[in-house]
Amino acid sequence: MRLASISVTIAVVALQIAPKIEGILAVDYSPMIRSLLVGFAAICVLLGTCPEAISKVPRPDLGFRPGVLPDRWPAGAARCAGVPEFHIHRYNENFYIIRQSGCSNYEKPFLYLLFGRTRALLIDTGAGRTEVGKRIRKLVSNWRIRHHLRSIQLIVAHSHAHGDHIAGDSQFAGLRDVTLVSPNLASVTSFFRFTRWPEEIVTLDLGSRVLDVIPIPGHEATSLAYYDRESAVLLTGDTLYPGRLYISDQAAYVRSIARLVEFTRDKSVAHILGTHIENTRTPYLDYPIGTTYQPDEHVLELGRGQLIELNEALAEMRGSLVRKVLRDFTISP
Ligand SMILES: [Zn+2]
Ligand SMILES: [Zn+2]
Repeated sequence: MRLASISVTIAVVALQIAPKIEGILAVDYSPMIRSLLVGFAAICVLLGTCPEAISKVPRPDLGFRPGVLPDRWPAGAARCAGVPEFHIHRYNENFYIIRQSGCSNYEKPFLYLLFGRTRALLIDTGAGRTEVGKRIRKLVSNWRIRHHLRSIQLIVAHSHAHGDHIAGDSQFAGLRDVTLVSPNLASVTSFFRFTRWPEEIVTLDLGSRVLDVIPIPGHEATSLAYYDRESAVLLTGDTLYPGRLYISDQAAYVRSIARLVEFTRDKSVAHILGTHIENTRTPYLDYPIGTTYQPDEHVLELGRGQLIELNEALAEMRGSLVRKVLRDFTISP
């Protein structure tokens, strides 16, 4: 960048002294010299100064903090030796996405870790036997040190109570600075202070970071969605993700999806992130159940458009849900 600025300065000075040189030499090089210098300056601008200038253009205020998602996630491996149990992705400074490897468990669930100024929230603890507790505690302590905080409380809550999302819970039980919300309706409603489950939406403040916590029973009785106002990301667990949407209570599920549509009506939704990927990149095609290695899997993120598509497909079924394959997910009652 510095080199580019120096080059432009040289070009400008050269343009100014060109007539003097021509005068001294008593020749008229101006058309050639000037076009060469203008060309030189243009190249400098293209190579260095333009990107520099663009980077200084203030970003429009989106109203939320953006982040980066990978084009592909590690989704297992053809050979598993040495493959770590978890891949940790920093979506932005205060938002981590943790993907369990297919080598560790075929469910390959996603876990989410969000940091506020006083509390962090871990959503889910993974599938099968892992060392999730150690990995998460390390992440939290690194973040705390980077932010010069003496301590930070960790809340361990869940997207829902199925075994592939709560298996590491015991590794957080009884720890100092950790509050574990047990995956049952009594604990969930008491911790989040729900008084009218599932019709009520409550908030959770992590310290200058507020989440809306939305009951979405239907896939499972304690299913929750979390809307992070800081990033405008909506976390939907197993209720909506690029895969097979299993439904245990049809009426509750239909109402929950309608609730999410209504809730997001007046909000930005940067991404809808669920807790599995089962679809491939080929529209309408999923991997078979139990696949451990998915080299061509669908991206994790969905948008509000897919939420509306799901809501409409459910409405068309008029209370009696049947299997329906859509482009990015499958309704699987
Ligand atoms: Zn589930
Ligand atoms: Zn699951």
